[in-house]
Amino acid sequence: MTAVAPDDLLAATTPDLQSRAREVRARAHGNRVTYSPKVFIPLTMLCRDRCGYCTFAKPPARVRSPYLSPDEVVHIARAGSAAGCHEALFTLGEAPEERYPAARAWLDDQGYPSTVEYLVAMCALVRDETGLLPHANAGALSSDDLARLRPVSASQGMMLESLDPDLACHRGAPDKTPERRLATLNAAGRLAIPFTTGVLVGIGESRADRVRTLSAIADSHRAHGHVQEVIVQNFLPKPGTAMHDHPPCPPEELLWTIAVARLVLPAEVHVQVPPNLSDDLRPLLDSGLDDWGGVSPVTVDHVNPERAWPALHLLRDATEAAGLTLAPRLTIYPGYASDPERWLDPAMRFPVLDRADADDLGREDPWCSGGVELPPLLVGVGPVSLEGGTVPSGPSASRRMASVAGAVAEVLAGVGRGQEVDEDEIVTLFSARGPEVRAVAEVADQVRRDEVGDVVTWVANRNINYTNVCTFKCKFCAFSKGPLSLNLRGAPYLLELSDITARVVEAEEAGATEVCLQGGIHPSFDGDYYLEVIRAVREASERIHIHGFTALEVTEGARRLGEPLVDYLRRLKDAGLATLPGTAAEILDDSVRAVLCPDKINTEQWLEAHRVAHSIGLRSNVTIMFGSIERPRSWARHLVRTRALQKETGGFTEFVPLPFVHMASPIYLQHRARRGPTFRETLLMHAVGRIAYRGWISNIQASWVKMGAAGAVQALQAGVNDLGGTLMDENISRAAGASHGQLMDEEGFHALVEPLGRRLEQRTTLYGRVPAPC
Ligand code: SF4
Repeated sequence: MTAVAPDDLLAATTPDLQSRAREVRARAHGNRVTYSPKVFIPLTMLCRDRCGYCTFAKPPARVRSPYLSPDEVVHIARAGSAAGCHEALFTLGEAPEERYPAARAWLDDQGYPSTVEYLVAMCALVRDETGLLPHANAGALSSDDLARLRPVSASQGMMLESLDPDLACHRGAPDKTPERRLATLNAAGRLAIPFTTGVLVGIGESRADRVRTLSAIADSHRAHGHVQEVIVQNFLPKPGTAMHDHPPCPPEELLWTIAVARLVLPAEVHVQVPPNLSDDLRPLLDSGLDDWGGVSPVTVDHVNPERAWPALHLLRDATEAAGLTLAPRLTIYPGYASDPERWLDPAMRFPVLDRADADDLGREDPWCSGGVELPPLLVGVGPVSLEGGTVPSGPSASRRMASVAGAVAEVLAGVGRGQEVDEDEIVTLFSARGPEVRAVAEVADQVRRDEVGDVVTWVANRNINYTNVCTFKCKFCAFSKGPLSLNLRGAPYLLELSDITARVVEAEEAGATEVCLQGGIHPSFDGDYYLEVIRAVREASERIHIHGFTALEVTEGARRLGEPLVDYLRRLKDAGLATLPGTAAEILDDSVRAVLCPDKINTEQWLEAHRVAHSIGLRSNVTIMFGSIERPRSWARHLVRTRALQKETGGFTEFVPLPFVHMASPIYLQHRARRGPTFRETLLMHAVGRIAYRGWISNIQASWVKMGAAGAVQALQAGVNDLGGTLMDENISRAAGASHGQLMDEEGFHALVEPLGRRLEQRTTLYGRVPAPC
């Protein structure tokens, strides 16, 4: 059954089909076009088939060895990994050992019963040595062979090509019978293998044949849900093949077939067209494709070696010129990666997670929160001399207002008209890519200018983490050291009150105006401990601002004393507590908290603690720890929920995004979390926060500890007006593996701010001016 009647398709004009295909694409996929950064591994070029168009397959006399050796395979994969690839595409001839004694002898010699068994071993080797995700493109396979490959590949593929059984080009190819290939497609569905298939256009088949082939793919997908993409590939004649004098696929036929594929296939199935087989990419985009397939920065297209891959910037330019955005993906598409229990063998789940961003697309660069890699330049201009090197100058495009179309542009237009963004619109803003990211940042930058001007503030403060012993078991926390976790970094400690006061005195002498008190929930603490700490700090300093105790600490303190929270907070305030940090918020979405911090306060309890604090005049801030397991929908809920409380109380002073630092985090080490947000996601969190809180929270802070100085510079051009504290002795991020320094001084802040033409100003915790020393 097809969604569109074949006669209707055959009678329609190509422009009409293209227009309808674009509508389907826009509804199902927005304006995102993906590609897979891949390295191509031709495991064997021997093949038992003789297809009339093929230059890939060679006889044994024309290859150095029947198969690539394991060393050669890893060497190619390593080069791909170093160049930023996510996918290792294994392409190979079909069962060459059935035809060539040389292939049989090589396999026997190496101890492999079949080509597929060798492929299984090489996929595992590449996955384990490089982290690249294998995609096995091994042709028509039995159900057993498909199942063997499932634990070592993130996806598999086989071109259906055509269901016309009488094509001359397939006469010498026993694996190209329609029955055999359809059987493979359906077996892959039964095994829940995310699958790639496709049609070859211009090899002698008719338009009606193509509709029939696409319809069969659609039917298989409707039965099993496994066809993640369909390649529409145009035939090009190649010298030395039986079809060398056959005419190439006319461009009109290719465009017609792309549009028809988009209309015949269920809307969620992606339509891919190789970008290296056509000279003009715009008509392909106008026909409804939403994927360019694998593009390799390292290897040639071994199936079409005469056609070089377009450089990535040309692909990006062509895509963006059509009003679309380009995003890297994994070999497994997001719709499948987001349901790993169904679509991935357990052995492949972490390799996929480790390369995914929050949309289950491919991570765009090696930057990690707290890591040493410089971020990509997404907004603004350099160079700015920074730790670990220099940020390169960006394209001049980053200086002009980015021009975008589509859903992100519509939301930004609403922001321009003064509208408040709702949860869905916030999710849309988080989906921004390429020029859309610049556009979101530019709008956020303008909102920042309107709300707080050009001043960038900082506060001189010292962190005092009085204990790292904690009775709670937050899965992300590398800081706390329960008795059973002594093997994790650092030893358990509990500072004496005299240590705390000594640190306060030291901090004040060094010019700090604030101490930030946070720690684990020690089993010996009752609520009075926090009062004792405050009294000790006050004894050491009459003036220093005491910023301390998370919503968890005060809720737990009141609970352990059996005292109403409001009374307890009042006593803390009377003793000298001035403001509360917004940490312990993590993600204010209980489905995420149930995994990240199941025994901690829930969303409503966090909000309630701040509501009560605000009601007695204690101000606080909003944080969000993002990029571990959750999706943008949860980020949006967090922003909307905290904005609603701010409308009620007005007690939040600032928004502080805290990108998840993965390196030593238990949940990452247990292979259950991503490696933090990408830099694009991190930048957007600041920009979207600025937009979402417009009129309600006027200060957006960048954490230089987690973003690094180079990241903070870009955040300053995406809505940020505050660089937070000097944070002498910041232990929590460092425990999680962050490598940025423990102390930033005024000079360091100046180096970030001055090249941007902004003015640096020291502030108090409550954003007052710090009087100049007399
Ligand atoms: S995040 Fe806080 S509450 Fe959770 S385990 Fe770590 S120190 Fe304890």
